[in-house]
Amino acid sequence: MAKLIFFTVKGGFCRKGMKEKKRILVTGGAGFIGSHLCEELLGDGHDVICLDNFFTGRKENIAHLLDEHRFELIRHDVTEPLRLEIDWVFNFACPASPVHYQYNPIKTLKTSILGTLNMLGLAKRVRARILHASTSEVYGDPQIHPQKEDYWGNVNPIGIRSCYDEGKRAAETLMMDYHRENQVDSKIIRIFNTYGPRMRADDGRVVSNFIVQALQGDDITIYGDGSQTRSFCYVDDLVNVIIRMMKKDNFTGPVNTGNPVEFTILELAEAVLTLTNSKSKLVFKELPQDDPTQRQPDISLAKKELGWEPKIQLNEGLKKTIDFFDQWLSANDTNTPRG
Ligand code: NAD
Ligand code: UDP
Repeated sequence: MAKLIFFTVKGGFCRKGMKEKKRILVTGGAGFIGSHLCEELLGDGHDVICLDNFFTGRKENIAHLLDEHRFELIRHDVTEPLRLEIDWVFNFACPASPVHYQYNPIKTLKTSILGTLNMLGLAKRVRARILHASTSEVYGDPQIHPQKEDYWGNVNPIGIRSCYDEGKRAAETLMMDYHRENQVDSKIIRIFNTYGPRMRADDGRVVSNFIVQALQGDDITIYGDGSQTRSFCYVDDLVNVIIRMMKKDNFTGPVNTGNPVEFTILELAEAVLTLTNSKSKLVFKELPQDDPTQRQPDISLAKKELGWEPKIQLNEGLKKTIDFFDQWLSANDTNTPRG
């Protein structure tokens, strides 16, 4: 067996020859993306503290990590301050699906603004690097296509999506002001629609809705005429770029992270029906207010600065996500999706 040589680094011990070990806080760590991120960071040998208030996150997403001695779980709401000694913060706590962020819009705004403020205060105090999960929603219903980072967006400040969009925009402002005023090592990624295992069956996002409906033989609910577009990134590709961004020195962003291949919502529905071999029918429902008509990231900055582009094609990612929901629905023995 190879002899292990330990030496101290900021944040604890690490094995010589291994990457530097960090103490890492992941807020929203029991959620869809957060749980995949915790898993990957543990796999890289780091100490991970997962913080969540379990609004949309679930213990089952991280149950398999609980026996790992380098993993800790804290039930906490990011709108309240907290003190920890950490090297990196991933600021991911915030409901992400329209159904959930509109459930209590004032709380959503508090989570984005007070949550980010508290995490920045923490990062400033312990000189940690902090990465904020922003969103393509900062571009609103974009008039520039595809969207580049220098586009300032077209956002309704008083609509039903504003609690999320404007909250995330204010959080970006805080990230930049703490960076300029307090030299906090801040990083911003703008995540475009991401999907994969551990999405909630009831969270209302299009990929999970269509898959669950197709598997259960229910009608596929197309909002509007289905001609609106989105670009879907598989979660493994996203986690890869999140970690690349965190490791990159002297690059604040914001940087778009997403898959640039664009589909109409009708095309997505057809793909899900084919892959599930489902006889579900398409039904057309009213388009929600302020629903963006098109969305596609320009990822040239991520390619240049981070050497990243997504690898997983829609069909491949959909198959893995369908397998997940198939198993989840059987295990939960329900025709009524729940979280
Ligand atoms: P998610 O709802 O699965 O995860 C959010 C997590 O944050 C949940 O575990 C939830 O319980 C937790 N949370 C919410 N409010 C909290 C609070 N006040 N205190 C502590 N924990 C709280 O959603 P997700 O898709 O995993 O999104 C994670 C992050 O990525 C969010 O910040 C979201 O805005 C951002 N994002 C996601 C997407 C996407 O397509 N999934 C796109 C753009 C941005
Ligand atoms: N959508 C749909 N049927 C559904 C859920 C969503 O047609 O059952 C549409 C929605 O109107 C939007 C797109 O799919 O145009 C993506 O919706 P989602 O909530 O996944 O993400 P976002 O609108 O935040 O991009």
